[in-house]
Amino acid sequence: MKCKKCGRKAVIRLRAHNISLCKDDFLSFVLNRVRQTIKRYRLFHPGERILVAISGGKDSLAVFDILQRLGYPVEGFHIDLGIDGFSQRAREVAVRFLAERRASVHLYSLQEEVGASVPQIASQLRRPPCSLCGMMRRYIMNRFACENGFSALVTGHNLDDEGATLLGNLANWQIGYLARQSPLLPATHPRLVKKVKPLILLSEREVLAYCLLRDIKYHEERCPHSKGATSLRHKEVLNLLEYYSPGSKIRFYQEFIKNQGIFPSLDPHEMRECVVCGFPTTRDKCQFCTVLEKFRS
Ligand code: AMP
Ligand code: ZN
Repeated sequence: MKCKKCGRKAVIRLRAHNISLCKDDFLSFVLNRVRQTIKRYRLFHPGERILVAISGGKDSLAVFDILQRLGYPVEGFHIDLGIDGFSQRAREVAVRFLAERRASVHLYSLQEEVGASVPQIASQLRRPPCSLCGMMRRYIMNRFACENGFSALVTGHNLDDEGATLLGNLANWQIGYLARQSPLLPATHPRLVKKVKPLILLSEREVLAYCLLRDIKYHEERCPHSKGATSLRHKEVLNLLEYYSPGSKIRFYQEFIKNQGIFPSLDPHEMRECVVCGFPTTRDKCQFCTVLEKFRS
């Protein structure tokens, strides 16, 4: 197997793009893909202060590494959710990675800030930890970015993540969600920071290969609460399609983005400000404050 660019020995075959590449050309391919994504979807503007949400997993470390190589001034933000063992190890990986790159690291500990971990809150409220964790993470990331003067919040979502979300939204005809699923969510309120996903045109396998070839030491463990998550089944379905028809994953996602206008944004809720924290919500009190209040009562 020879590299399509230089003829040297290839290290990876990309069936979706019908090419094989050597290490150097694959690493350039990944950087170019992200550069294209940033340009095509106008993800950043000059002078932006960028905060990257670092879980410690391969995607967030890769997106940080790539943006740094592309010359963006990036800082890292990690949330310790207090999930026994798993969170300590994730935090160590995130801190070590950012220290090695001499990057600024911002740490948020749920235990220190609100006095409880995700599993404690979930068990007391008898709620599934994953939905609670996702909601709390989104709130904390936005609030931290906003209060510390960042204009963009980057996450490591890749093509497989976005494809799985899209399939889930289609399977359940979540029209409202379909209208909002995007590589860039603009700041529609002074206390909402723009959300950006620069890896959406790279598959999970490509991101994994990037980390291995760059020798990026990421946190490999899967969250103990994520077992059997429907998103994993949706990823399997897309991988099956991809196996029989290479390129179908990228077509599925990119063609959706091109045609997204056909999905009307249903009942655009009026944006209000939470009576407790002042951050945007569609209700009187935001979900984060509601959960904390119930937990403390
Ligand atoms: P997930 O929902 O676990 O697939 O994570 C999606 C993205 O959210 C990751 O790529 C990270 O950018 C970000 N993220 C997830 N967990 C954390 C965390 N504990 N701290 C900071 N960012 C996170
Ligand atoms: Zn609130």
